[in-house]
Amino acid sequence: RPYAAVTGAEIQAPLIHGGTVRYANLDYGASAPALSVVSAYLNEILPYYASVHRGAGYASQISTSVYENSRDIVREFVGGRPDDLVIFTRNTTDSLNVLAGCLPRRNGEQAGDVLYLDIEHHANLLPWQRVGHRSIVARETLAETVEAIREELAAGGVALLAVTGASNVTGEILPIAELAALAHEYGARIAVDAAQLAPHRRIDIAALDVDYLAFSGHKLYAPFGAGVLVGRPDWLNEGTPHLFGGGAVREARLDSVTWTTGPARHEGGSPNVLGAATLAKATQVLASLDHDEWQRHEAEIRAHLEAGLSAVEGVTVHRVFSDSADSIGVVNFSVEGYDAGLVAAYLSAEHGVGLRDGKFCAHPLLKRLGLPAGSLRASFGLGSRLEDAERLIAGIRQLRERGLGWDYVVDSGRWVP
Ligand code: PMP
Repeated sequence: RPYAAVTGAEIQAPLIHGGTVRYANLDYGASAPALSVVSAYLNEILPYYASVHRGAGYASQISTSVYENSRDIVREFVGGRPDDLVIFTRNTTDSLNVLAGCLPRRNGEQAGDVLYLDIEHHANLLPWQRVGHRSIVARETLAETVEAIREELAAGGVALLAVTGASNVTGEILPIAELAALAHEYGARIAVDAAQLAPHRRIDIAALDVDYLAFSGHKLYAPFGAGVLVGRPDWLNEGTPHLFGGGAVREARLDSVTWTTGPARHEGGSPNVLGAATLAKATQVLASLDHDEWQRHEAEIRAHLEAGLSAVEGVTVHRVFSDSADSIGVVNFSVEGYDAGLVAAYLSAEHGVGLRDGKFCAHPLLKRLGLPAGSLRASFGLGSRLEDAERLIAGIRQLRERGLGWDYVVDSGRWVP
């Protein structure tokens, strides 16, 4: 598939000083717009929308086969092993919570801790706080950070290393294959939060030797409401079922239950068939893209944004590691003297640029970067244009040169012109 023109409709953004302009969506990291192929597929399967696994009717059979096929499509997308379970969830948060309920136990006790870095999104941090856990502060370089992880693993008693594939705050990519080898060397497993990585890079969990992978449909050009957890079957087949209810049981009695195994163990209740199917369709589109063109396009916009923003006086681009080479389409920055929320409101109203401000559900990292009040994140992907990056840079340049030029009142915590 050629790289260009895979996203949906263009949106016009109204400007405060009148008129409209093409909406420069630089908030793909929060949720990416649905691909046109995905929207078309949604419309195609809508008439067959029926309950899966339960009905013998024609629509039910189609729904069931669409749902079950989606597992195979996702497994192929991530390079899963034949016996890996593909469990559909609500999102990445849900997927990591499923895994948190499946850590191995010995003599009634959890058989080891979960180890994670302080750079994680709350989704890959808080589920582990429910169980035995240890955290490490990321060091100045990736090399030193990997060494710190090695030391902690070598101390023993770690069952799972949970790590992000790419930071949702800075876009920096972690050395997953190296960390997987390290975890296995010390008898631990590795779970990768691929919410940000999966929409930007091909991932092959068998080749990387990753045990568990989680990501969300809505960041991968599919609608909200579906995510996935892919991984080794043993822990998942024995762990606490994620949702107690219909479909998750082998046999239910009045006061006890025998749970089933396989993905159904964690998918109690009627599943999100359309969410799973559109997520799977989006993975097929990504897999069919011209890889070099895709990566070149992202790298070009990223380099342009980083250079353009850094060149503006008073703008700082934030990174965690001084030696990280590879990043996805995310640039994090702040403008000296300006509240991040105010800058984001100004960019939207004056320039038709949409981006995220705040703490990005990564409070420990933001605090450590010296940004307790938050910063700004520009993130992009398929369908993004160099001109979107240029509009953002021009907007920030204008802010530095002319100031806001607005009189603001604070209305219940929001800036209102
Ligand atoms: N991990 C990372 C790295 C993320 O960027 C996000 C979403 N911001 C999540 C997890 C959580 O994803 P979701 O909200 O879809 O559960």
